[in-house]
Amino acid sequence: MPASSLDSVRISDLARDLVHFSGATARVLAPFTGELLHELPLGSAGDVVDAATAARVAQRAWRAAGFAHRRAVLLRAHDLLLERREELMDALQSETGKTRGQAFEEVFSGASVTRYYAVAARSVLATRRRRSGIPLVVSTRVGYKPKGLVGVITPWNYPLSLSLMDVVPALAAGNAVVQKADNQGALSILASRRAFIDAGVPEALWPVVAGDGDEIGNAVVDVSDYVCFTGSTATGRKVGVRAAERLIGASLELGGKNPLIVLDDVDPAAAAADAVYSCYSSMGQLCVSIERVYVLRHVADSFTRAFVERVRQLKQGGAFDYSTDVGSLTSAAQLERVSAHVDDAVAKGAMLLAGGRARPDLGPFFYEPTVLAAVTDDMLCAREETFGPVVAIHVVQSEDEAVALANASEYGLNASVFSGSLAHGRRVAERLDAGSVNVNEGYRATFSSVDAPMGGMKQSGIGRRNGAEGLMRFVEPRTVAAATGLLTLPRTGKEFAAVAGALVSVLVVLKALRQR
Ligand code: NAD
Repeated sequence: MPASSLDSVRISDLARDLVHFSGATARVLAPFTGELLHELPLGSAGDVVDAATAARVAQRAWRAAGFAHRRAVLLRAHDLLLERREELMDALQSETGKTRGQAFEEVFSGASVTRYYAVAARSVLATRRRRSGIPLVVSTRVGYKPKGLVGVITPWNYPLSLSLMDVVPALAAGNAVVQKADNQGALSILASRRAFIDAGVPEALWPVVAGDGDEIGNAVVDVSDYVCFTGSTATGRKVGVRAAERLIGASLELGGKNPLIVLDDVDPAAAAADAVYSCYSSMGQLCVSIERVYVLRHVADSFTRAFVERVRQLKQGGAFDYSTDVGSLTSAAQLERVSAHVDDAVAKGAMLLAGGRARPDLGPFFYEPTVLAAVTDDMLCAREETFGPVVAIHVVQSEDEAVALANASEYGLNASVFSGSLAHGRRVAERLDAGSVNVNEGYRATFSSVDAPMGGMKQSGIGRRNGAEGLMRFVEPRTVAAATGLLTLPRTGKEFAAVAGALVSVLVVLKALRQR
């Protein structure tokens, strides 16, 4: 199996786009083989400051060029992403170890979000009249000014789609972006960025820097007017505190411990087939991946049997085509974390229904998709995010119990309900404390709905990406209200005495007319 399907010339060509003057490099390994993929050039905090200065200059022209220009550029970028999809999937698989199918999902979602904001930005951000405080006397409008420079910090697991979900709306609103890429995802980001540069985004408008998390991450927060962070809850908390010290806004897209409820009216085999995909896509290294299943007693045996059977049939391997169902974990650190969670659970009495071991015969970081039962609260995998291919199946007596257990987590990112009736599924979905809830799907129904907000409740984050909400992060609303001159507002005691009665009547009439 080759380490990568990108040749080394192409890899160093892409890596040249990084902002790097420090001279330092990091060894990036290919997950499928453990071989060296490339030596990644690293940047410093000083590089971030210089890149930010140039980006601010580029932003003025980008903003002035207007929505129509930005729309045309972004739509061209959309086409180039699709044209170059094979290379993008090669880069994604080479860096993350995911399957071709899951690399395809990333390109699909990156292109979708690009088209969406290219088309939607102008109407969402149009200046609009609002109700004035005193009808006819005051006229009020709200417009939107881009923040300026948006900092984007991204993880390694979905480098292309998660970057574009923040970068594209920031650009569409007229901002510049300075991005910190995780070392393990930099090539995928650079390959997708090339599509935008070739489509007409100025190079200086979107610099990408890789390097030490604390140094580069802090520098990005310090130079930006707003910061988008995607990663762990622990790092997100640090980013949030630093942003708060500077009084800039932040959206924090953090971890999850996502539940899936199987109601007693499902077809167990069909539900199991969809549930398995939701748990093991990208080897569970997906923020919205399912790690806890609550199945109603009535269907528990048949669902669990079908689920385990399906897991055993998954074809695992490191192919750069669509011939496999699950790939590799991304790094040695991930293998260690996943093994630790499973070993801890088994040592404390959990039952292993499938998987539970590494597969060094397939590659250095491969681990079998794993199903656990009898998981108790004292086990690491009960409450902590495993961020790997490990699922605990719990049998519950009632819908109420399933909902209570699903909600009993410090996280609230994603959840899922499987039911034979959409109406029933939706009713249960309304009771779940999660930013996104999928019915008869694990995560793709909400993940693909780029017009709808996506984000976490509780410790899973602050703010939302996607939809109008995802765009409004990147602008400052500016209210302009003008005195129309129809009537002069009171300034002296005498003038108040003259108009107070009339102003009270205005309020009474507005209420009677049920006006806002
Ligand atoms: P991480 O927090 O370790 O790293 C994320 C990014 O932050 C990396 O680029 C890293 O270099 C950088 N970083 C490290 N220290 C920093 C600091 N002090 N300041 C600023 N940036 C810093 O997370 P990870 O291991 O790369 O990603 C896995 C985690 O991300 C999981 O918890 C997963 O659930 C979460 N995640 C969440 C979403 C979401 O949309 N909610 C999406 C993907 C991943």
